[in-house]
Amino acid sequence: MAPRDNPLNEPQPGLPARAARPSEAELRDAVRILIAGIGDDPAREGLVDTPDRVVRAYGEWFVGYRIDPAEVLRAGRRRVAGSAELVVLRNVPLTSHCDHHIAPILGTVDLAYAPGPYLAEPEDLCRAVDAVARRMQSQETMTVQIARAVEQAIEARGVAVIVAAQHLCMTTRGVQQTGAVTVTTQLLGAFRDDSMARQEVLALLRRR
Ligand SMILES: [Zn+2]
Repeated sequence: MAPRDNPLNEPQPGLPARAARPSEAELRDAVRILIAGIGDDPAREGLVDTPDRVVRAYGEWFVGYRIDPAEVLRAGRRRVAGSAELVVLRNVPLTSHCDHHIAPILGTVDLAYAPGPYLAEPEDLCRAVDAVARRMQSQETMTVQIARAVEQAIEARGVAVIVAAQHLCMTTRGVQQTGAVTVTTQLLGAFRDDSMARQEVLALLRRR
């Protein structure tokens, strides 16, 4: 599919709409119901405090709903004159959850951009990736959102993002494709429009 035909290229807000949120007590009750549904006893000793721990863990896994990745990058960007042609950041760790099963997606992000007027701090790029990842979503959406945040926040001339990840919903259940890795790519700006620039950046990102 040509990148222009990808429906995920449609503008999306930086943050997903926030639904009405239940109280923590209601969340703990929901976890107790899940435990009972599994067939275990939520009142037994080892499980008494589990609902509280699960609710707190969800708070960490999904903290991205409260962070705008573009804002993270904008806050730390540096204006430059005559910077490098290409900035590459490889092997940024990624922890996310799929919106089909709320199961972990574990992988890495390789990212490159052709700077416009600004450079991003490498740690800010990692934080922006983490902010996008710590939501429930598909890998394709995540890839697009990372690329868009970089493009918008530092006005990069081109952005390339490659996400390679294992979906635990796939590797631990159903067809059990242990080790199967899904790779998604998003190219924006010069890397999308200029075939030479595209080949150059993809060759660079593939090199190990
Ligand atoms: Zn899934």
